Amino acid sequence: MYDVIVVGAGPAGSYAAYKSASSGLETLLIEKDRLPRWKACGGIVDGRTLSKLDRGIFDAVEAKGSFTNVFYNSKRIQALERDDYFFKREKFDYFITKMAMDAGVEVVDSCPVTDVTNRPEGVAVRTAHMELKSRLLIGADGVHSTVGKSIGLVHNHSRMYAAMVASVGLQSYENLLGEGDHSNMYFFEDLLGFAWLIPNKESVNIGIGALTRKSRGLRGKFERFCAGIDIPCPKVHGHMIPYKLLEKIQSGRVMLVGDAAGFVNAWTGGGIPPGIYSAEKAAETCLEMIENDDFSEKASRRYPSRCRSAFRNLRFRTKLVEILDSDTPSDFELPGIAKSLVRRLSAVASQSL
Ligand SMILES: Cc1cc2nc3c(=O)[nH]c(=O)nc-3n(C[C@H](O)[C@H](O)[C@H](O)COP(=O)(O)OP(=O)(O)OC[C@H]3O[C@@H](n4cnc5c(N)ncnc54)[C@H](O)[C@@H]3O)c2cc1C
Repeated sequence: MYDVIVVGAGPAGSYAAYKSASSGLETLLIEKDRLPRWKACGGIVDGRTLSKLDRGIFDAVEAKGSFTNVFYNSKRIQALERDDYFFKREKFDYFITKMAMDAGVEVVDSCPVTDVTNRPEGVAVRTAHMELKSRLLIGADGVHSTVGKSIGLVHNHSRMYAAMVASVGLQSYENLLGEGDHSNMYFFEDLLGFAWLIPNKESVNIGIGALTRKSRGLRGKFERFCAGIDIPCPKVHGHMIPYKLLEKIQSGRVMLVGDAAGFVNAWTGGGIPPGIYSAEKAAETCLEMIENDDFSEKASRRYPSRCRSAFRNLRFRTKLVEILDSDTPSDFELPGIAKSLVRRLSAVASQSL
């Protein structure tokens, strides 16, 4: 029997596995895809989050962003100071998985978990080919979490962003972003969301995201956005981002982290920093429970208690987004005061967690 099984080798799962093994727990990490795996993402991670990782992560940086240009209806309205690093997710995530392996984690890829059961004596984990057991389990299997479904903790699908992303070769688009090491963020009067341009070494990451209930015609908006900056609309990949924390993020011996639990900055859709934060807190709780040989519900509720200060921040952001999401019609257009609102909100939104 393992001490901890972690399901999902994204940044949250790999980091949780790394922390568990580093504190001496026998840890297995199971991933459904073949590693390293690709993930739709802008790939922005702040310097504070990177400081939790080994220094070698800086070798995987595609580009650095010391500021973000904010545009409203194509007009640049301000530049925000930032400490951003831009990554390709297949490199970023796999770097953390390798940190986990180096710490002693056993990794099994191409192996989707199909079901998880909380039992008094441990957690039973089923895959297509095997049944495994652990004393504790961390569910880090993303927005459509199978672990969450197995234990009855699921997201409300109306509390999400729909986002799409594409990568464009840079050769002919070198002037797309303008001077300096930065990214561009674009707000529009007819979109409850935003678009972005993020430089990579030999390409630009281009994307758009909007609240799912206001995202009708998002593909068309993406095409118009591309046309507006004079690039052909490239091959697009879409994905969902939960913007609301689950009411409950643990049950019995199972804890959810990252997107599976809804650890996302609701104003930016950024889930890597809060995902890594939640992974750390879950791994600390696993260690405590195993050291105390206490697997009670009360002991596993120490995980959400540890996250309390982050909860306040995340929930405040979510509340404002929920108001926009629920109390506006689906063809909503931002009013004239939007420009100053965007300026104020974008300054706060860009701070992580
Ligand atoms: C278009 C887009 C742009 C984004 N841009 C940014 C950004 O710039 N910065 C930022 O911080 N965040 C960004 N995000 C959000 C970010 O991608 C997520 O918040 C982050 O990936 C969450 O990490 P995670 O480890 O919780 O989940 P994931 O990265 O989704 O990893 C979950 C893992 O679990 C695996 N898995 C799923 N089901 C199973 C199963 N049944 N069995 C085994 N394994 C399973 C998956 O294959 C995957 O590898 C963006 C999201 C989108 C969609």
